[in-house]
Amino acid sequence: MKKVAIIGSGSDCCHLVDLLRGSSVISVAAISDISDSKECSPADELDMPVYNDYREMLSKVDYDVIFDVTDNELISNDLKMNESEKFDIVTGSCASLICEIIEEKKKRRDETQRRLSNFEDLYHFGLTLSSSQDLREVNNTIVDFATKITKCPAGSLAVLDEKSGEMVLSASKGFSNDFHMVKRWKLRSGGLTSHILNQKLPVVISDMKKYKSFNNQLLLDEKIKSIIAAPLTVEGKIIGILYVDDYVEREYTSDDINSLSLISTYAALAIERTKLLEETKLMAITDGLTGLLNQKTFFQRLNEEIERAVRYNHPVSLITFDIDYFKNYNDSHGHMVGNEALVKISNLIKDQVRHIDVFARTGGEEFAIIIPETDKEEALAFAERMRKSIEESEFKGEEDQPNKKLTISIGVAGLPTDSHDGLDLMDKADQALYEAKHEGRNKVMRYEPGLISQGSTCDWRLPHNLTDDLLQSGQE
Ligand code: GH3
Ligand code: MG
Ligand code: MG
Repeated sequence: MKKVAIIGSGSDCCHLVDLLRGSSVISVAAISDISDSKECSPADELDMPVYNDYREMLSKVDYDVIFDVTDNELISNDLKMNESEKFDIVTGSCASLICEIIEEKKKRRDETQRRLSNFEDLYHFGLTLSSSQDLREVNNTIVDFATKITKCPAGSLAVLDEKSGEMVLSASKGFSNDFHMVKRWKLRSGGLTSHILNQKLPVVISDMKKYKSFNNQLLLDEKIKSIIAAPLTVEGKIIGILYVDDYVEREYTSDDINSLSLISTYAALAIERTKLLEETKLMAITDGLTGLLNQKTFFQRLNEEIERAVRYNHPVSLITFDIDYFKNYNDSHGHMVGNEALVKISNLIKDQVRHIDVFARTGGEEFAIIIPETDKEEALAFAERMRKSIEESEFKGEEDQPNKKLTISIGVAGLPTDSHDGLDLMDKADQALYEAKHEGRNKVMRYEPGLISQGSTCDWRLPHNLTDDLLQSGQE
């Protein structure tokens, strides 16, 4: 093993130590530096002697090679004058050259390592995206990763809403609260967003000042100076834009641009896949025409809400309603106009229910609402407002209806007043609804013991398999 001593403990010494670390043929045996030797970190790390005086160092041990990286002519001359047969001296420009080569090599090695680590990160990014089923999580992962890999302090993701044609801010990082006030924006011809969407590759703006024509006020307010924006496309269809932003003017490297390009390809596919998944899940629990919860989901929720109300001894009410003379409406104006009325009525009631209420289409023209934390009297008042709002709304051709208006009849039942059981409560609200029909329609009726349910206008009666499920779960 050849022994090396180094004179000077600056960055060149560090590079040398770094290069020779772990070598089986050369070892750094000592370092000398006239400055406070305690600051010499490579020596500390390797636990080797550090001398203030290089002469002292040379007198202690027999070294094979002396590396003088001080670039100090006095030391260099002194070494040459005291040249010994015991060791070789590398000093002056020769030492500088070797140090430069080492530094260059180190840079290359670091760069290769950085790339390797980026590839590893990219691999894990792909795995995370492909295993996530939550669109929010996917969006946040994309922005986090894009900013990390490009070393940008801020970034965001805007997804195109096909219905409205607007861009929707779907995830962001590093911006102020004001930035999040604008959740949607329209595409403006000549604007930054339109410009980006017209490109196939990422758009790089190193200095926002130079792009006055599409200076974006939001970004200016955030003091963003440079951006890369990558359009997200799937099979040629634009689905959004991924941005990374910096607060300084910045020349992005081709690595930054290529990485973002690759990320945007993964990102677009992941967003599209997760969106489809969420749509499929939504379709399974909602009704396609009105967007309300479907019957099956309603009964599951009824189960949960009743259980909760019983456990905490809280009230819960149930409203069922049915459109009056709807067959007549359909017969007079056709099924399509009937559908429009169904949607309009759903939307009118949707605007009146609270976030915690459970509103569902339980049959063809029948609906139900679970109203948690609300007693029967309050539910009756709410039902009356509902009835009135439909009576006062205008519907196409309603003058042909028997009572000249398109109206609804409503039944109300409540826990604990009428029952502690979900299906029984539903049955009782249904009886009250039947009574409302019997009383001439366009009415709200409460369930009362003694109501004689002589039949039902309701389609909500459970299909056998669902009844069995609920029976097995102890609901009846
Ligand atoms: P009542 O006042 O007693 O409720 O009379 P009604 O005519 O509303 O009652 P009925 O049960 O006889 O008729 C319900 C009608 O609802 C029959 C059916 O054509 C219509 N209907 C059910 N589902 C849909 C739907 O999805 N779209 C449309 N347009 N009509 C529907
Ligand atoms: Mg009806
Ligand atoms: Mg009906």
